[in-house]
Amino acid sequence: MKFFNTMGRSLEDFKPLELGKAKLYTCGPTVYNFAHIGNFRAYLFEDMLRRTLEYHGYQVTQVMNLTDVDDKTIRDSRAAGLSLNDFTAKYKKAFFEDLAALRIEPAEHYPEATKHIGEMIDMIQALMDKGFAYQSEDKSIYFSIEKCPGYGKLARIDMTSQRVGERVRSDEYAKDSVADFALWKAWDEKDGDVKWDSPWGPGRPGWHIECSAMSRKYLGNTFDLHTGGIDNMFPHHEDEIAQSESANGCRFVNYWLHCEHLTVGKQKMSKSLGNFYTLRDLLNKGYTGAEIRWALTGTHYRSKLNFDFSSLDQARAALRKFRDCFVRLAALPEGEAGIAETEALCARAKEAFGAAYANDLNAAAGIAEVFRFTRDVNGLMAKKQIAGTAAKRILEQYRDFDRIIGCLDVDAALAAKPEADAEEDVPAEIRALIAKRTEAKKAKDFATADAVRDELKQLGWTVTDTPSGPKAKKL
Ligand code: AMP
Ligand code: ZN
Repeated sequence: MKFFNTMGRSLEDFKPLELGKAKLYTCGPTVYNFAHIGNFRAYLFEDMLRRTLEYHGYQVTQVMNLTDVDDKTIRDSRAAGLSLNDFTAKYKKAFFEDLAALRIEPAEHYPEATKHIGEMIDMIQALMDKGFAYQSEDKSIYFSIEKCPGYGKLARIDMTSQRVGERVRSDEYAKDSVADFALWKAWDEKDGDVKWDSPWGPGRPGWHIECSAMSRKYLGNTFDLHTGGIDNMFPHHEDEIAQSESANGCRFVNYWLHCEHLTVGKQKMSKSLGNFYTLRDLLNKGYTGAEIRWALTGTHYRSKLNFDFSSLDQARAALRKFRDCFVRLAALPEGEAGIAETEALCARAKEAFGAAYANDLNAAAGIAEVFRFTRDVNGLMAKKQIAGTAAKRILEQYRDFDRIIGCLDVDAALAAKPEADAEEDVPAEIRALIAKRTEAKKAKDFATADAVRDELKQLGWTVTDTPSGPKAKKL
């Protein structure tokens, strides 16, 4: 298996620390809002990495932290008039719902920063004891980059041109403002009641120390893989390396993987630019988690991916073709025709599919194999060269592909009713109206709910409320 290691800027064979095991740390969300689909591109890339490792027989231990205390969570919880915990609880819950909608496999651990303050204090104390950190006039603790000879090795910063002794309190800063960064931020009035006691006075941790302390707790001093979006490389990951390697006296991580951005009109999708869609925005427009997953995972993770709605429509068409194929396979009559040919076809496709993902997660090549396989399968069906037993083998192969792809949903397709009112045959526009009506009903806005029902009628659809939710039917 090969991955592009950001540290060496080259493809490297994956050699785990422990045979057959892979330890993976993935930087998680800051829970101050709903995550947008740019964030989910990063989490889906990490899910693909995890699933690929598992496909190739590794037992994965994955940790994803939840940043539930930082400048933004404090700022916005105060603006909302809520305690930090009540404020972040809402977005934690939403995050897990979104992960499930996108079929992202759960990590083994989701440590929350606020529950690991003790571990962070221990690590900061070790950095103080070893002379890598110091206290400033305002009682905050800073990491001294001058004491860390390797600083800048991940982001490839030439430290000879940097000024020494400058400090930056904010967690996010650009490459051209390299400076001593905060490990512990002394309390000030902007923090309200958010503070913890420490040997250096009341305050709260910086963002970077969270990941160093929590990865050490769950994965050890040195582990295999660490990932994030490319914007996490500097300063966040650079600072994690500096803290962990200085405190622990050994290498932190063997393989660094970073995914490129999801863009909109060539600009990074981000909260600050306001050019974002949350997952919920797209679900409310009637797209499914499976369609969104397909659209966000077909492009190589190291290439930029420009988002537009046509990619979701293409995802819908592609997934529907697969489902049609599954249904036709399941309907073939019993019989033994084409078994040997099918076996060879499946073995060849599985080999090529697995090899594509093992080659630095080449999803485009992996999906191309699934399309090629489907063309061959359709050819066999058209020539009536296969029967029930071979069809079962083929469906088994699609289930196997879905261990990585995660949205072909063979069994759901076979269980679904073939009638025209099946969920997937309802156009996005109609689904959006149904969602609007449900929202209106929830808000007891019955006038809007009735108006939407009329609008649906004019478009040729009726909606009935069933125990499993509203169902659309063509009039
Ligand atoms: P944040 O909540 O800003 O710390 O971001 C969470 C994760 O999403 C990090 O791994 C970021 O690098 C990643 N991320 C943020 N914006 C994008 C984007 N537009 N495309 C891909 N990944 C992103
Ligand atoms: Zn992190």
